[in-house]
Amino acid sequence: MSSYDYIIVGGGTAGLVLAARLTEDSSKRVLVLEAGEDLTADARLSVPAMWPTLLNTDADWKFKTVPQAGFNNREIAFPQGRLLGGSSALNGLSFTLSSKANVDAWAKLGNPGWDWASFSKSQAKSYTLTSESAAGTSGSGPLQLSFPKDTDNQWPKIWQQTIATLGFNKDGNPYTDQICGPIFVADAIHPATKTRSYAVNAYLEPARDRQNLTIVTKAAVEKIIFAKNGDAVTAKGVRYTKDGADLTATGTEIILTAGTINTPKILELSGVGDARLLAKLGIDVVIDNPNVGENLQNHPLCGLSFQTLDSEETMDGLARQDPTALQAAMAAYGQQLGPFARSGTNAAAQLPFPGIQSVEGKAEVEDLITKYIAANSGGNTSFAEAQADFVRSVLTSTEEPSGYFMSFPGYASFNQDGTMAPPPAGTEKYFSIALMLTHPLSRGSTHIKSASPTSTELDIDPRYFSHPLDIEVLSRHLRFIESIAKAEPLVSHLQDGGKRNTAAESAGNFLAAETGLEQAKNYLRQTAVGAHHFTGTCSMMAKELGGVVDSKLRLYGCPNLRIADASIIPLTPKANPQATVYGVAEHAASIIKGEV
Ligand SMILES: Cc1cc2nc3c(=O)[nH]c(=O)nc-3n(C[C@H](O)[C@H](O)[C@H](O)COP(=O)(O)OP(=O)(O)OC[C@H]3O[C@@H](n4cnc5c(N)ncnc54)[C@H](O)[C@@H]3O)c2cc1C
Repeated sequence: MSSYDYIIVGGGTAGLVLAARLTEDSSKRVLVLEAGEDLTADARLSVPAMWPTLLNTDADWKFKTVPQAGFNNREIAFPQGRLLGGSSALNGLSFTLSSKANVDAWAKLGNPGWDWASFSKSQAKSYTLTSESAAGTSGSGPLQLSFPKDTDNQWPKIWQQTIATLGFNKDGNPYTDQICGPIFVADAIHPATKTRSYAVNAYLEPARDRQNLTIVTKAAVEKIIFAKNGDAVTAKGVRYTKDGADLTATGTEIILTAGTINTPKILELSGVGDARLLAKLGIDVVIDNPNVGENLQNHPLCGLSFQTLDSEETMDGLARQDPTALQAAMAAYGQQLGPFARSGTNAAAQLPFPGIQSVEGKAEVEDLITKYIAANSGGNTSFAEAQADFVRSVLTSTEEPSGYFMSFPGYASFNQDGTMAPPPAGTEKYFSIALMLTHPLSRGSTHIKSASPTSTELDIDPRYFSHPLDIEVLSRHLRFIESIAKAEPLVSHLQDGGKRNTAAESAGNFLAAETGLEQAKNYLRQTAVGAHHFTGTCSMMAKELGGVVDSKLRLYGCPNLRIADASIIPLTPKANPQATVYGVAEHAASIIKGEV
């Protein structure tokens, strides 16, 4: 049995950043234990557009929520990476920074050193964005980002001009400025090779040969081994299984980076969590902290697809596996172009509460806030009040987005259970607009249901739309999609009276004066899903507010155990979270090394 300075549990997005940074000091021995396999050579991983083929395979934890009352009791399936590189190895590649307001709100929860000014410096250490535009290069880190090279793809321009028609500034740079309006989002795709840039090739490969780094894959950590001396608790090591053998590793410090669902699972299995739950499951309580597994946050996601003119170029042929479209896409990829070489969600927009610029819009948002935030505040914990304050500041601002829109030239819809739906049979072509609520107030939880480490049954309950303001805001943004689809130049590329995605066909007119809003809400309850953006279950904040770790990421009650993945994020980022997770891991490495 070997002993290490640091044992990193989970070789995913954050875990590999920490492995690389901590082994820069050759005197520190680091062990990484990763439950999944190393699929580095697999084309499903490296070719950007192939990531959906990894979902529902052994490279995916294949989680599922409990029935969601706010989603008409649907259970929503969702993937999380179970392979070296974690979710960075199978995510949708979109690289979006969160906002200054969001991160500054983390600091206010009792987290000195986690304001935007400090955090954004750490985040910039993770990526390099190469851009041929006037914006130049930003960031200085190992992750290589790029924009698609295609010059014959008209859709991003159409999108940008359409959002500009609706009154938004189209010249903002989301990597250097805090902006509302149309944005062009970079991909985690290497500009030279047009292959996925992620935690393995960006962080691990340059460090893999270091003598002080040991990576073990197919090693599933079952629990943390603690020692108790009076009230003092010390983490001594971890118990894990590999190839059927029960093994133990010991270390001076343990760092949990198993992700938003598995990190609290490991803590609870190890006796850290709500004493009542643990006692019920027959687990000895080491640290009683009912906040473990709570504060689960995620973006509700919905969308609409509109039939385009037959003459338009879209991705529908490819989605229907038309051999000609497939061949063309493969040939284009040979030139580092086309749909295989990009995420497909580059043309996006971050927009404020619809109508906030007008007197009526301001009054509408104030009414909603008074009705739903004030009405709820009586029973709120103080975290809920802090969260409501933050959301109020977003909703009442013309500069902060409450809706994040992604445009996509092709059919994009979800099955009832949250998995992607193929386009309907036929030859129709579509343009889709997907929409996320940037800062939901609804919060849920994830907990174990059994003391068995091998049980995959978890009680994952995001409680989508449990806060009534969420559906009020999202339904208004959904109506705004109708306004986008009616604006020039986009409207000229869509069929007048054309088809929509199947669920929208019978959903009614969201813009109808009397009934539209209610129809939009019904559509959301029937069709919304969760994005793959879970955060918050081991939140970094004062313990009395609901915290699990302090601002140095130390577990309350056990200072030599840290958590440094998406689970520590107390208020979910504005949109796709990977940039924020890389930033968290870089910041964590600096804290551990005593650099900040
Ligand atoms: C399908 C999908 C698409 C996404 N698309 C985007 C996108 O386009 N843009 C974006 O910004 N974000 C996206 N995300 C979200 C983003 O990828 C994640 O938020 C981020 O990668 C989470 O990083 P993490 O380090 O917290 O967890 P992960 O990267 O998931 O790492 C956790 C690691 O721990 C391992 N592990 C878990 N339990 C154990 C155990 N018991 N023992 C050993 N190892 C264990 C896991 O196998 C995994 O490798 C997407 C996520 C998914 C799943």
